[in-house]
Amino acid sequence: MESYDAIVIGAGVIGSSVAYHLARFGAKKVLVLDRSQIGAGTSTQSSGILRTHYSVIENVELAKRSWSVFTDFSAYLEDEDAASGLVKCGYLICAPDGPKLSPLQSALEGQRAMGIEVQFLGQEEARSLLPIAHFDDAALIGYEPEAGFADAYLVATSFARAARRLGVKIMEGVNVEKLLVDNGRVCGVETSQGTFRSNTVISTQNIWATDIERWTGIPTPVVPERHAVLALECAEAHYTFKMPVFKDLGSPGMLYCRSYGGNQMLVSEGIVGETLAVPDNEQGDISMDYVVEVGAQVAERFPAYETAGLASSWTGVYDVTPDWNPVLGRLPGIQGLIVGYGFSGHGFKLSPAVGRVLAQEALGLPTDVSLAPYALERFSTGQLLTGKYGLGAVS
Ligand SMILES: Cc1cc2nc3c(=O)[nH]c(=O)nc-3n(C[C@H](O)[C@H](O)[C@H](O)COP(=O)(O)OP(=O)(O)OC[C@H]3O[C@@H](n4cnc5c(N)ncnc54)[C@H](O)[C@@H]3O)c2cc1C
Repeated sequence: MESYDAIVIGAGVIGSSVAYHLARFGAKKVLVLDRSQIGAGTSTQSSGILRTHYSVIENVELAKRSWSVFTDFSAYLEDEDAASGLVKCGYLICAPDGPKLSPLQSALEGQRAMGIEVQFLGQEEARSLLPIAHFDDAALIGYEPEAGFADAYLVATSFARAARRLGVKIMEGVNVEKLLVDNGRVCGVETSQGTFRSNTVISTQNIWATDIERWTGIPTPVVPERHAVLALECAEAHYTFKMPVFKDLGSPGMLYCRSYGGNQMLVSEGIVGETLAVPDNEQGDISMDYVVEVGAQVAERFPAYETAGLASSWTGVYDVTPDWNPVLGRLPGIQGLIVGYGFSGHGFKLSPAVGRVLAQEALGLPTDVSLAPYALERFSTGQLLTGKYGLGAVS
């Protein structure tokens, strides 16, 4: 029976980042277990958008720290082969007159107060950045130049390779079946390939985090929620890599869009999705009615897209908590168990900083940012991290 300094369950962007940082902070024997493959959980389904815009100020700090890693990814990993696929195109967000206006204003000011470059644009300035859209109804437009999108699968595999180079052992195809606890203290895991011992276990299981409740009895308030992503192609209006990611707080679905392949538009709704009865990241159906409904919203903002066609589509599953923000840190009542789940559709942009702080917490080091706001206990004390744009807006 092998013993480790730490065991990580799950090798998505979060688990791979945790594993890398554990090794970087000096842990000698680290084991990562994934029942599938590195990045093949929900990370591969990500739209990959990176921004620091959040109406929940705690998230701005994590996103800011993460952005500085994404912009210097291979140097940060000390691995010249590492790549994040970053396209630095900026992030444009607009709201019409109405209930989203004042939350947007205060979120943009909050970013500025934290030293992030944020510009307030007029409609013509916005059009010069995103000429395929109109902004006639926009009462407030914010622009964040230091933003863009990247590839979550590349990031997960790059973190994993860098971790391996530092001596981390990653085993794919190994299902963790049980957490072993002795006298209130974690002592290992039972898996499809035997038992592994450790007094420190970090669970980064995303929608499958409900295993923790089954193993320990500690409530895991996370629900799997399926979302659809469409890639649209329009002969008259190409969404190029130079054009910013766009968030449309004025559309019924609070759409987000970005370039896909330098020509097509990737688009998805930023509202509540379809709740699944069990955690499952298999592809779901996307009805033609849904495509038509989202297409109509797109055409409202991007007139040439009236004639756009559907190039491809897929579904992905979010691990949604009641306030749409993650649970990070230790769980009450069990020593040695640390969790990072409930990213509710916005975990990729936080993954470098979250991996660092979870590794620091696991090793008993001071954490870069306080984990207190992200504690599980907030769901019983009522100190929630609910965003100001409503549930589903991942902001
Ligand atoms: C459609 C969609 C769009 C998104 N868009 C964005 C975006 O634009 N920007 C952004 O920041 N975020 C976005 N996200 C969210 C982001 O992609 C996720 O938060 C992030 O990838 C989650 O990473 P993870 O490591 O927590 O989960 P996962 O990648 O799901 O990894 C969890 C791993 O745990 C393993 N596992 C679970 N249980 C066990 C067990 N018992 N034994 C062994 N292994 C186990 C699984 O096999 C899996 O590989 C999006 C997500 C989706 C679905």
